[in-house]
Amino acid sequence: MTDSHCHLDSPQFDADRDAVIERALAAGVDTMVAIGTGDGPPDLEAGIRLAEKYPAFYATVGVHPHDAAKANSETFKTLEALLKHPKVVAIGEIGLDYHYDFSPRDTQKAVFIEQMRLAADAKKPIVIHTREAWDDTIDLLRTHWRGGGIMHCFSGGPGEARQALDLGFHLSFGGIVTFPKALNIQEAAKITPADRLLIETDAPYLAPVPKRGKRNEPAYMIETARKLAALRGETEEAIAQTTASNFRRLCLG
Ligand SMILES: [Zn+2]
Ligand SMILES: [Zn+2]
Repeated sequence: MTDSHCHLDSPQFDADRDAVIERALAAGVDTMVAIGTGDGPPDLEAGIRLAEKYPAFYATVGVHPHDAAKANSETFKTLEALLKHPKVVAIGEIGLDYHYDFSPRDTQKAVFIEQMRLAADAKKPIVIHTREAWDDTIDLLRTHWRGGGIMHCFSGGPGEARQALDLGFHLSFGGIVTFPKALNIQEAAKITPADRLLIETDAPYLAPVPKRGKRNEPAYMIETARKLAALRGETEEAIAQTTASNFRRLCLG
């Protein structure tokens, strides 16, 4: 299995990171993508540090919308250089977050657009974070983006899923799809074509049922795979294989 989105650089793993990775490998999660947004600029190498230390990891680089106000021209120059790192597979997570509004919305938009330009130049996919900002996110993608990408922790319904799929995106489902009340997301998971499906943990956040509320880790991804399999009438093995090969085609191809 491939965990297409996790934050194992988080201080929540400082005490037992090696053990967490051992458990992931033992559970069959042989590939993990370390999202590199960390605490934001000027440090842009949170994911790369993991990818350089652990063979199972690839990395992204990028500025999270929360940190958009910390970005400047130096940040973009550094990102451009880091995108050439052999284990960097995408730019992300980038996008818009109007739930917290940690950075002004105009700044979030400008930094999102600039990073789409960098990704296009580097011919890399983008990993989208969008929260309470769906319409603006889709508008900016329609205007500024041609190419593939990942809607991380997809939490819309079938309508939003179709919009993202029409733009060529993959939908990555995380622990939320296992929550009993997440009926809308579950419907979206049912209609996602097999060749656009991805799976992730977003660890340490959003652990799937029955680990809900605990610190999440990649080994728990089997619960999400099990739920997707049940929803789609497929086996867990099929979900694991499909999502791993989709990741390879999108990010390593
Ligand atoms: Zn996110
Ligand atoms: Zn994330």
